[in-house]
Amino acid sequence: MPIRVDPEKCDGCGVCIRSCPMDALRMKNNKPYLRYDECWYCGACMEDCPRQALTLELPYQIS
Ligand code: SF4
Ligand code: SF4
Repeated sequence: MPIRVDPEKCDGCGVCIRSCPMDALRMKNNKPYLRYDECWYCGACMEDCPRQALTLELPYQIS
């Protein structure tokens, strides 16, 4: 899963759901999750989260 949610920070506002250009995020138990493997690693959800609750885990190392 490329998206990691910090449940302590996330308040379930849903901003990230609306930010995703792929419409790949959905809410479950008031927390976002990736509905299918369509993430482009664009970072929009992470950038727009007002609580810095999302972390994007890239599939490769940046050194
Ligand atoms: S990184 Fe981009 S494509 Fe992936 S879930 Fe977030 S907004 Fe959607
Ligand atoms: S934008 Fe951030 S705080 Fe809001 S639902 Fe998404 S992860 Fe949670």
